[in-house]
Amino acid sequence: MHKKYQKVGYKKQLRLWMWLLLLLVLVITLFFHLFFHRSIFSLHTDASLSSSQNVFSEAILERDDPNLTLDKDAIDQQQEQLNHSHKVQAGETLSDIFKLYGLDHNDLLLMIKARPQAIAVVEGQVVDWVQDDSGALLSLQIYRNARLSSLYTKVNDQFLFTPLVASSETQSLVKIGVVGRNFYQSAQAIGLTQEQIQTIATALYWQIDVTSPVTIGDKFFVELEQSVIGGQSVGASKVMAIWYQHRGKDIQVVRFSDGRFYHSDGVSVEKTLDRLPLKRFYPVSSEFNPHRLNPVTHQYAPHYGTDLATPVGTPVYATGDGVVKKVGDHPLAGKYIVLSNGRIYSTHFFHLSQSLVKVGDRIKRGQKIALTGNSGRSTGPHLHYELRQNGQPLDAMLAPLPKQTSISLELTPEFDEQVKARMSLLHEQF
Ligand SMILES: [Zn+2]
Repeated sequence: MHKKYQKVGYKKQLRLWMWLLLLLVLVITLFFHLFFHRSIFSLHTDASLSSSQNVFSEAILERDDPNLTLDKDAIDQQQEQLNHSHKVQAGETLSDIFKLYGLDHNDLLLMIKARPQAIAVVEGQVVDWVQDDSGALLSLQIYRNARLSSLYTKVNDQFLFTPLVASSETQSLVKIGVVGRNFYQSAQAIGLTQEQIQTIATALYWQIDVTSPVTIGDKFFVELEQSVIGGQSVGASKVMAIWYQHRGKDIQVVRFSDGRFYHSDGVSVEKTLDRLPLKRFYPVSSEFNPHRLNPVTHQYAPHYGTDLATPVGTPVYATGDGVVKKVGDHPLAGKYIVLSNGRIYSTHFFHLSQSLVKVGDRIKRGQKIALTGNSGRSTGPHLHYELRQNGQPLDAMLAPLPKQTSISLELTPEFDEQVKARMSLLHEQF
C-alpha cells in the first residue's frame, strides 16, 4: 500500500513536469515567433544576398530611363549618330578602350576578323568612332599618324577594313551665318554639317548656349579647313576658328595644333571635371560594367555607374560646373540628381538621402549638392555615381576627363600667331 501510494505520487510528479515542459516549449515558441522570427528571416535573406552582392547591390536600372537621363537639346535631337574620340594612353589596348566606353566586345572580335594587324594602337594615337543612339558601334577609325589612318565600317553585321592615307595639304573656307528661327537651322542653311554644328555648339557652350532662343539675330563666322590630295577634297572639313557675335558680346575661339579649342587669351574652352564626387576615400563596392552577367542566373545585369560604399549622410560634391537638370525620387534609383556638365558630359547621383539643390540651379565644381543614403532598391548604404558622355555611360573611374588648361609659355608665340592669322581671316569677311 505504501509502495503503491509512492508510485502514484511519482506518476503525478512526472505528469506535472511534463506539463511544465510543454508550457515552456509553448512560451519559447511564442517568444521566438514574436521577437526572433523577423530577424532570423531577414538574416537569412541578407546571407543569400551577400553571396551575390557584387551583382545585386542594387536593382538593375534601364540605360535610357527618361527620369534618370538628360533630355536632348535642339541640336542633339537632330543627331542620329554620336561621334566619340579617345587619345590612346600608355599601355592601353583597343580592348581597354572598348571596356572604358562600354562598347560591345563582339564588335572588337568582328574587327579582328576583318583585319587583325590593324587592331594594335600605341600611346598618343587617336581613336574616333560613331555609335547610333542605341549605343551600337557603326564605324571606328584609328589615326596612326598625320598621314595614315585605319577605318573599320560595319556592314551587314561584319566590319569592312579600309586603310586611309591623308595629305598635309589644306584649304581654308569661311562660312557666315545669322541666326534666324534657331542656330541649328541657320547653320545648316549655310552648309555646315551636323558634326560641325555639334563642334561649334560645344566649343561655345560655356560662353553661350546656341540651342537657347536668346540667340536670334546673332551673327557667326566659321573657318573650315579641308584636306586636299591632287586637287581633290578628301574627308570631312574641320572647324578651326569661330567668331560669334551675341548682343554686342564677341566670342572668339581657335583650334590649336593639339586639336583643342582655346579662347584668344590661351585658356582652353573646356571646364575641368573631377574624378570623384567625394572628399574622402570610400571603397568601390560595385564597378562600372555595362555587359555584366549574373554568374548565378546568367541574366544580363548591366551596371552603368560606380558604387561607392559611403555611410548614410556622406556629403556629395559636384565633379564639375553645371546645371541641375533633374531632382527626384525613383522606385529603383531612390532620391537622385542629374547634372549637365557642359554639352558633352552629365553626372548622375542615385540612392541619396537628401538633395541640397533644385532643378535649374547653377552649380560650381566642388559645391556640396547632396547627402548619400540608401534610398530606392538598394541592399546597403552607398552612392551610385554615373558619368555620361553624349548620353553614353562610361567608366567614371577610368575615363579621361576634361581639364581646363592654358597654352604653355613656350607655345604661346606659335599660338598667338595662329590666333592672329585665323581671326584676321574671319574679320576680313565682316
Ligand atoms: Zn550602382
